[in-house]
Amino acid sequence: MSSTSFKYKEIQKPMLLRNSIIIKTLSLLIFVIVLIMSLSGFFFIKYQKKAIEQTTFQINNENTQQVLGNIEQDLYQFGQQLTLLSKTSPIQAKDSVITASYLKSFDVSSLFKSDEKVTLYNQHNEIICDNSMIKASTESTPFKDFSSVIPHRAFSSEWYFENNIPYKFFAITVDDKAAANGTLVANFSFKRIWQKYSSYKIGQNGFLILFDNRNRVLMHPELQRILTESLDANFFDLTGFLASSFVIEEPTFLKINGVNYFATYQYNARFQIGALALQPQSEIQELIHNMAFIIVLLLASTLFATVFIILILFKKFAFPLKEIIQKINFIANGNFDTTPLPVLNSKSELGLLTTSFNQMHFIIKKQIKDLENHRDNLETLVKERTQELEDAKIQLELISKTDELTKLPNRRDMFEKIHLEASRSARSRRDFCFVYIDIDKFKEVNDTYGHNFGDTVLKTVANVLRHSLRKYDYLARWGGEEFLCVLPETDLNGATIVAERFRKKVAKEKIKHENIEISVTITLGVALYNSKLGVEKSIQLADTALYKGKESGRNQVVTHNPEHSESDSK
Ligand code: GH3
Ligand code: MG
Ligand code: MG
Repeated sequence: MSSTSFKYKEIQKPMLLRNSIIIKTLSLLIFVIVLIMSLSGFFFIKYQKKAIEQTTFQINNENTQQVLGNIEQDLYQFGQQLTLLSKTSPIQAKDSVITASYLKSFDVSSLFKSDEKVTLYNQHNEIICDNSMIKASTESTPFKDFSSVIPHRAFSSEWYFENNIPYKFFAITVDDKAAANGTLVANFSFKRIWQKYSSYKIGQNGFLILFDNRNRVLMHPELQRILTESLDANFFDLTGFLASSFVIEEPTFLKINGVNYFATYQYNARFQIGALALQPQSEIQELIHNMAFIIVLLLASTLFATVFIILILFKKFAFPLKEIIQKINFIANGNFDTTPLPVLNSKSELGLLTTSFNQMHFIIKKQIKDLENHRDNLETLVKERTQELEDAKIQLELISKTDELTKLPNRRDMFEKIHLEASRSARSRRDFCFVYIDIDKFKEVNDTYGHNFGDTVLKTVANVLRHSLRKYDYLARWGGEEFLCVLPETDLNGATIVAERFRKKVAKEKIKHENIEISVTITLGVALYNSKLGVEKSIQLADTALYKGKESGRNQVVTHNPEHSESDSK
């Protein structure tokens, strides 16, 4: 079975913002939104521009049509009026007095403007009378189209100009059965139209220019100009313009005297009037700009709202996530002592993640704490056990070096000390002595008072000897009821004195056991350490001296004479 391998790697770098999936997604989202909005905005504005132009074109066309219709109506009514007048009896009388006074009467004169003239001609096309206050004028613009005049319906002439004012003659046959025919003629003054439409506005600052069929200007907002100079289409740089055949079918811009205008054109064939409606291009552009501004504003606020929402999302999601990642990083690097994450709205994904993370962190921390406690307990236990072992070892060492009954060092321990002393003596070249001690007739004590009493005697003698030692001397139980004492830096004389003191002290000591009191004596053999002989042989010299003491009556000190020893060893 194979297990997935994981290599531990310390995480040092915090998460970089440019690595964030959320940021990448949100950036892509913003990019797509901006792209869609820009494209749709661009095409919408383009479409709307066309729509505005089309609508404006239609409106201007309709208005021009209406103005032309009204003018036509005025002209038609003027003809009608003349027709009605021709049927009145004072006109039909064709009398220079009756008819003239009738034409000058209020009823008739109020129908015409001051610059309009009504004239009655006889069958020879000679003036009978007119509506002028003085004698009928023969100098005024003569009407010439008599051949075209018919009864019942007024004939209208071409446009003609007098003092730069456009006029049109209306003429009708004065038809009566009694007399020969005559002709009633009246000229329509364009001032009537000027009054109504010279300041007519196309859009806000647009205007109308009216032409006759010969491209002459009938009306223009600057009336004063018309009155002082005779204007025609050439004045407006309209090359190739023919009033009667000029057509504008779709939204068109015309450059007139250096200014761009949005233009529409209508022509009334019945009365030969062409109406050119001009609206400054800037007005259309302003409409388009306003519309584009509103669309851009809408798009911008949508974008702003989107960015705002994304920022909120980012704040609510990406930042807490980053914090969680940093915390996990922290823990992944072994820093379990970090504080828990602040809990967000606990029902959201982030909230659940945070809560679960805190729970996991808590459990890990707790388990680590438990492990630490366990480890501490183990450490304490190990320390205690080690101490116990150490104590046992010391105890064991002590036991191995100590005689149980007398608590004096045993023979093994004494040997070690003697060897140390021997090497020290070799260095310092100073003598040291052995005192070999044996309790006299000890077997008897045992036999007489029992083994327990014997033990008490052994302990008592040991204590007496121990308390008689100088501080650098040492004493050991050498075996049975024998003791060995080492006296460092002591010569034979000194040693003999010390041994004698031992003997006396022991002899003086009263030993009590179960109401029995006795005293014992000891015999002591003293010898100088001889480095040439070594430790064992030097001790044997003391033993030999002791033996001599036993032989010569016990309870005494016998000192080995070194000179004998030299000879003995030989
Ligand atoms: P001597 O004066 O010649 O030394 O006579 P002694 O009786 O002391 O000589 P011996 O060496 O024959 O006797 C030693 C006796 O010491 C023999 C033994 O039973 C006794 N003994 C040895 N060790 C102990 C001990 O630890 N306790 C007791 N109670 N007696 C012991
Ligand atoms: Mg003995
Ligand atoms: Mg003895």
